[in-house]
Amino acid sequence: MVDIQTPLTSTSPLVTEPAPRAPRQYRDRFLTFSPPAIGEEEIAAVVDTLRSGWITTGPKTREFERQFAASLQAEDALAVNSCTGALHIALAALGIGPGDEVITTTMTFCSTAHVIEHVGATSVLVDIEPDIMTMDPAAVAAAITPRTKAIIPVHYAGHPVDMNPIMALAEEHGIYVIEDAAHALPASYEDQPIGTIGHLTAFSFYATKNLTTAEGGMLTGSAELVERARIFSLHGMSRDAWKRYGVGGSWFYEVVEAGFKYNMTDIQAALGLVQLEKLTAMQNRRRLIMERYNQAFGARPEFQIPVERPNVDHALHLYVLRLNLDKFSVDRNRFVEEMFARNIGVSVHFIPVHLHPYYRDKYGWQPEDFPVAYREYQRMVSIPLHPQLTDTDVTDVIDAVLDVADIFGLEGKSA
Ligand SMILES: *Cc1c(COP(=O)(O)O)cnc(C)c1O
Repeated sequence: MVDIQTPLTSTSPLVTEPAPRAPRQYRDRFLTFSPPAIGEEEIAAVVDTLRSGWITTGPKTREFERQFAASLQAEDALAVNSCTGALHIALAALGIGPGDEVITTTMTFCSTAHVIEHVGATSVLVDIEPDIMTMDPAAVAAAITPRTKAIIPVHYAGHPVDMNPIMALAEEHGIYVIEDAAHALPASYEDQPIGTIGHLTAFSFYATKNLTTAEGGMLTGSAELVERARIFSLHGMSRDAWKRYGVGGSWFYEVVEAGFKYNMTDIQAALGLVQLEKLTAMQNRRRLIMERYNQAFGARPEFQIPVERPNVDHALHLYVLRLNLDKFSVDRNRFVEEMFARNIGVSVHFIPVHLHPYYRDKYGWQPEDFPVAYREYQRMVSIPLHPQLTDTDVTDVIDAVLDVADIFGLEGKSA
């Protein structure tokens, strides 16, 4: 361990009792939880697009769709401006609306549920499996009613949902499966790439995701469903602007749906094309960091490290460390404060949907209605996992975590 004896100021509210000794401060610069991995290649590609005379949806967007679909062996792909937009038009294109029920997990970002609300359907939340924290297929089975029209599995942290039972339920009941793969690029379940299993799959290219276009998303699926979604993605017009204004284009279009404005720009697609080339290298770096964390925390009784089932390839989007709270004198919130006090940015993924006032009040949910998600939420902390972390950064994160465990753990120091 680095041993710089620089105690934090005694006025800091974060490091007063019950600390048995002054914590060491390992870093003088704050380590951002998840900065974007943008290099000179991305910058050049964006500038090139700005000079090209075509900045919105056009040839680069089509090329990004083509390469993205090919990388997953998906039949078709539609680039949009967010994963939220992709999920929204998936539901709209499948005709889901008022009176319909859509099942998803409470352990997700709010937008997975918001889109169900946006189309006027009813959100039906289910609890999670304790090990991988994705939707529990038994809970899904129990939640199906004659009104259920779709299931939205979320590949939490990048670990695929147990898809076989979900797909079997969908087939048995004639229900659509729309996957929220915001964390799951690239991932696979029993050798099937995520993006090729359910009816439609939505990916996110938000700034913190494994591949970023600043803001952006992609929807994959069959050519027929993706074409239907494409119409919803741009005003419900029967042909898109690129085709209208390009060479050989026609002024004529028809509006066949009250569609949305969710198209991706060529500026974003230019970023995406470069990022796609770098994805394997970025994933390899994530893997090395994950392994160092597992090695550092796996033997410590204070922690539970992420579980990786043998039948999946994990996208390694988040490293969610779980605190064995009976081994700590402090709670998760204090643990988070202590990490920030050591200049390490951490986060919590996620505050379960059913705890948020909109959903709690609309559906009358209590914290204990989804006891596994509620329990895991209270002991989870996401530590930095991104490809630009240097080996020294990773050491700093490990030292900070172990220092907090040494000071606030009940086991006393090990090793
Ligand atoms: C980031 C995220 C989204 C939303 O993605 P956007 O591209 O920002 O719309 C949806 N679901 C999950 C699980 C996410 O983490």
